[in-house]
Amino acid sequence: MGVDVDVAVIGAGVAGLAAAHELARAGREVRVFEAADHVGGRMTTRRVSGFVVDTGAEQISTRGYPHTWELLRRLGLDDAVPKIGRQLGVWRGGRVRRGLAHPLGMVTGAGMSVRARVDFVRATRGLAKRNVSDTERPEASRLGTATVTEFAAPYHRDLLEYLCQPVVSGFFGWRPEHSAAAPFLGLLGAIGPSTAWRTYDGGMDVPARALAAPLDVTTSFPVREVLAGPGFARITGDGTELRARSVVLAVPAPVARQVYVNAPPHERPFLDACTFTPMVKVHLMLDHRPESRVYLLAVPRSESPSVSVVLFDHLKHPDRAPEGRGLVTLIASPVMAPALLDAPDDEVVRVLADEAERFVPGLRAAVTESVVHRFRHGLPEATPHALALRGEFASGLGGVVDYAGDWVSLTPYSEAAVRSGRHAAARVRAKPPSSTVPSDIRSRRQHT
Ligand SMILES: Cc1cc2nc3c(=O)[nH]c(=O)nc-3n(C[C@H](O)[C@H](O)[C@H](O)COP(=O)(O)OP(=O)(O)OC[C@H]3O[C@@H](n4cnc5c(N)ncnc54)[C@H](O)[C@@H]3O)c2cc1C
Repeated sequence: MGVDVDVAVIGAGVAGLAAAHELARAGREVRVFEAADHVGGRMTTRRVSGFVVDTGAEQISTRGYPHTWELLRRLGLDDAVPKIGRQLGVWRGGRVRRGLAHPLGMVTGAGMSVRARVDFVRATRGLAKRNVSDTERPEASRLGTATVTEFAAPYHRDLLEYLCQPVVSGFFGWRPEHSAAAPFLGLLGAIGPSTAWRTYDGGMDVPARALAAPLDVTTSFPVREVLAGPGFARITGDGTELRARSVVLAVPAPVARQVYVNAPPHERPFLDACTFTPMVKVHLMLDHRPESRVYLLAVPRSESPSVSVVLFDHLKHPDRAPEGRGLVTLIASPVMAPALLDAPDDEVVRVLADEAERFVPGLRAAVTESVVHRFRHGLPEATPHALALRGEFASGLGGVVDYAGDWVSLTPYSEAAVRSGRHAAARVRAKPPSSTVPSDIRSRRQHT
């Protein structure tokens, strides 16, 4: 049965939901179609046996998230995002070095030697001249398409091995030799030190659920094909076909490339180049709350081949685990994640928990339950090739089929997703109003 709609948003992650929210607020008729049985995408929370498990995103910041905070204020949620108030650390030589992304890091070292810290100051000063502050247009930076490894090459090797690599691999699943430095450095500068980092009361999916509540969202609706026609697009899902005047494809770029079968030739090169890194997370429910001097431990590749992050969720926010219980999340390294994507859950748990025993002694014996979460499309990889093509792609947006997602600006954080959703909504709104709904849609609507 065909259904007609003014605007169809495909994907109910925060990008799609932000787009739909803006359009509905402007009085547009909008429907959201989501493949999963829940909203939130990579910002989803599962509630299991009293534990609150953030399967994707972990935190936001007071700084660098202006679009997110504007939406949170509108939704009345801006008071429900407390500061984490704990430090991050780096594992080096058998122990935790505190101060990663913290002002005190220059004193404590955060895993870096004194000479490397001097180089860190040099590198930071140099950045001021290289225009890396535009997280929306990372290609505008004077760093050009230099990779993270190339950016760090003139400095002490600790800068790469104990700062840049653990951060890009642990937070984005990147390999520093494959991804461009400009989006990473722009993001880091924007979000500020860890003293500004916050997480939602009740789970990271709170904003997605609040955005979705008043909207017309159809879950368990995987869109198979989008075909653009003159002034409308045809969407095909499971046994259903519908036409929309505008479509916002708010799915990861590789999915957009696959479903949008007649994407315009000028958009295809960037869509093809916009690869994603996979992310695999294991959440371990524990019979007690292990103490730690940091809530998040980044593990450099030189220290572990398989684990890149150990996160103490109960220290991130006490509501993530029931009283007296602990929740620890392990993130697989970029080398290990592809191999674990299709492995059985118990093997993923064994590989990562065995390795993490070094960082959290007694971990395995304390596990009562576990949850494995895999993102085949974890984060936009921001390769130099993709970065080189981004500007042209962005300048051509605004067709019948538009896009939203963190990948549109190649900046791997939820603010980029929210921002892109709002921008896509503005482009849809800038097109002629609904009187231009194709006549066949208008006439069918009148008869239904
Ligand atoms: C492990 C991990 C940790 C992260 N940590 C942080 C963090 O701490 N802070 C931060 O700010 N950001 C973080 N991020 C990034 C953040 O989660 C993303 O930037 C943001 O959630 C992306 O939102 P999106 O709407 O662009 O995409 P998604 O959330 O991926 O939304 C796309 C939606 O489209 C749906 N979909 C896919 N295919 C189809 C189809 N064919 N038909 C219909 N629907 C479809 C998907 O199911 C999904 O719901 C993290 C990401 C990951 C993976």
